[in-house]
Amino acid sequence: MIGVRWGAATDTGKVRSRNEDAFLAEPPLFVVADGMGGHQDGAVASRIAVDTLRGLLDQPTVTPSEVPRLIQAANDAIRGQARVDPTRPGMGTTVVGMVLVTPKGRRPFWLAFNIGDSRLYQVHRDALSQISVDHSYVQELVLAGVIAPDEARFHPERAVITRALGSHEEAEADFWVFPATAGTRLLLCSDGLSGELDDAAITAALAAEPDPVLAAGLLVSRANEAGGRDNITVVVVDVCHQPSTGAQNADADSTDADSTDAVR
Ligand code: CA
Repeated sequence: MIGVRWGAATDTGKVRSRNEDAFLAEPPLFVVADGMGGHQDGAVASRIAVDTLRGLLDQPTVTPSEVPRLIQAANDAIRGQARVDPTRPGMGTTVVGMVLVTPKGRRPFWLAFNIGDSRLYQVHRDALSQISVDHSYVQELVLAGVIAPDEARFHPERAVITRALGSHEEAEADFWVFPATAGTRLLLCSDGLSGELDDAAITAALAAEPDPVLAAGLLVSRANEAGGRDNITVVVVDVCHQPSTGAQNADADSTDADSTDAVR
């Protein structure tokens, strides 16, 4: 049997006044969304994304074709919300996530998806690799060979993303499928983490805490120590041969309804 141990944490950071990130950690589904837009719009958009994707859990087993359908439904809902008040355009959100699919008689696998610059990383045998590909201006510069990957984190236009949920009529997500292998650790995060910590710092924090709940808290602390210039959200998922367990913690000013400490 394949299960997961998970931990999640979100924090407003040290500069922003509100937390506009949202996350969902309910096995087999894990999602991080980073909202954007004026007023409270970012928080509204990221919440719509997470709540719509939660629909995947309505069925006893996950149907992979439901994932793109729900991503499009979230896109439509965000655009519908933005139309309610046309003086507040620009509402949108990134979304990165993964769902564990366990087909009968076949090996379980992850179906991962991404729009924007929130990230999915995998740690296998102590090596960190980014599975998702950022939809960002700096990522395009890296791919074109204009700047080195190390320069992207410090580029003045690093926050410019090229795709977001809600920005166009069609939601353009990328998808990845990879085996769910016991012993691997997965990390979903908003750019409040990856913008503050480079790969080496993320790897070190993940290696320092075998417990995914403590690892999530440590990553948020380290991002705050590095500046905490943006909202920080992390979900750490360990694939194991045990029934699923996990816990989440969130700062008190989060609007997340699940933000009180909870252990399940
Ligand atoms: Ca952000």
